[in-house]
Amino acid sequence: METTCYLSLGSNLGDRAATIAEAIQRLAKAGTVVAVSSLYETEPVEYLDQPWFLNCTVALRTTMAPRPLLDAVLAIEQSMGRRRIVLKGPRTIDIDILLYGGETIETPVLTVPHPALGERRFVLAPLAEIAPDALHPVFRKTVRELLQSLPENGPEVRLWGKPPDSEQ
Ligand code: AMP
Repeated sequence: METTCYLSLGSNLGDRAATIAEAIQRLAKAGTVVAVSSLYETEPVEYLDQPWFLNCTVALRTTMAPRPLLDAVLAIEQSMGRRRIVLKGPRTIDIDILLYGGETIETPVLTVPHPALGERRFVLAPLAEIAPDALHPVFRKTVRELLQSLPENGPEVRLWGKPPDSEQ
């Protein structure tokens, strides 16, 4: 059975757009990429002394269960040179599982919906582009509603462009 899940991708080292495009291509091995948002240039949060990120979101239809999907995502991060030097610091590629169908998952290695989904404009703005009506199964709010409820004066998120090679 196929499930639609939503992933967030971010990069703030090297050729950020090319890295994200490459990660999306690799994600196609885990299912069918059915939508890709625009890229957004976003101000760092939490650890502020680092370059701005490019972020986007992807809709993936997959037959993989959540845990194998997480392993696939972590393998892509590793294979693309992700190194954890500073917690919350610069990274070549970061991939998070935002939503997995309407499921709620709470294990030591995987929390879905992603715990920060409701509070991050850099995730909600691109997600609202491809899935405004997707429902957060815990908050019982749509992505559009979550985005609208964010304060206006938070960290900056600017539309940047389309990922290279995206067919959108
Ligand atoms: P970070 O690189 O800071 O995004 O953290 C990655 C770690 O978060 C992974 O090793 C996962 O075990 C854990 N994790 C928990 N929930 C999620 C999720 N929804 N998506 C991605 N990673 C997750």
